[in-house]
Amino acid sequence: MNKHLRQQVINAYLSRKDGFDWSGLMRYAQAILSSRDEIEENITPPEFDVGKAKQAQKERRTYLEVANIRIDPKEFRANCAKMLDAYIRNGVLHDPEQVETMKGIKWDDLTDRTISMAVVDPDEFFSLALLDLSKEKSDRAFKVVLAGLLISIVRSYLNSIGQAMTELLSHTDEVASSNKSLTCPVCGTAATISAVKENAEARMGTKELFCACCGTAWPFERVRCGFCGQTNPDKLGYLCADEDRSHSLYVCTECGGVLPTVFQSALKAPLDYDVEMVASGLVQTLYKRTTLGKDEVQ
Ligand SMILES: [Zn+2]
Ligand SMILES: [Zn+2]
Repeated sequence: MNKHLRQQVINAYLSRKDGFDWSGLMRYAQAILSSRDEIEENITPPEFDVGKAKQAQKERRTYLEVANIRIDPKEFRANCAKMLDAYIRNGVLHDPEQVETMKGIKWDDLTDRTISMAVVDPDEFFSLALLDLSKEKSDRAFKVVLAGLLISIVRSYLNSIGQAMTELLSHTDEVASSNKSLTCPVCGTAATISAVKENAEARMGTKELFCACCGTAWPFERVRCGFCGQTNPDKLGYLCADEDRSHSLYVCTECGGVLPTVFQSALKAPLDYDVEMVASGLVQTLYKRTTLGKDEVQ
């Protein structure tokens, strides 16, 4: 999604008349996304190889496992520091104590091996990076902030590949129909959000899962859990809140998985997954509030 379209999406939220003040969430989305844009501009995007994408598909491996992308560890550490600067400057981080703790991070503690995993297996990279960078006194809040920052950095490196793969999957029937993978076909992480998109040919609309780590959206079954893959309709359902009609939570009582889902028909603007991930924070908060203390799926 280009910046111009994203701005349209954000403006559409700001002009909504649904009784909720979206400005705080939208400011937050804008701060994160413009920080990421800044860093992405300095990164030479790795080339997307259609042949390798098809090979990965056939071998049921992720694109990154097949593609063998290399990144410069020194440049990567510098980009981590730049992303943190941008987060502070743009107001993603504003709690003075949190800012101080994050400024204390020594990016040189990230080993070359850890960094190499960022473009092979992001989940593994996140675990290793947290080990490299956490101190004994690091608390949960620190780890959450750090994880968010690291996802943004990985995304800066993988975004072009995610877009190319999304494009390929949406135009290649053969790939699209057989690629209903539970995890991201590019990087292997679990979906962060899904959407039911309007589609002239499919009357009910088609579903996609989206990966925040690399920006890939891939086709998926309408009735199926994005975490455990089960398809029993009695164990799957949507929860929504009166306060926000455009986002629902797709809940699986088999595994307890909860995936925010956007219905494109309810949006009065194009769909931008990155903005929607922030916007769906509202329905997630409402859901937690209503189920707190109740014996329901968490
Ligand atoms: Zn991915
Ligand atoms: Zn499930």
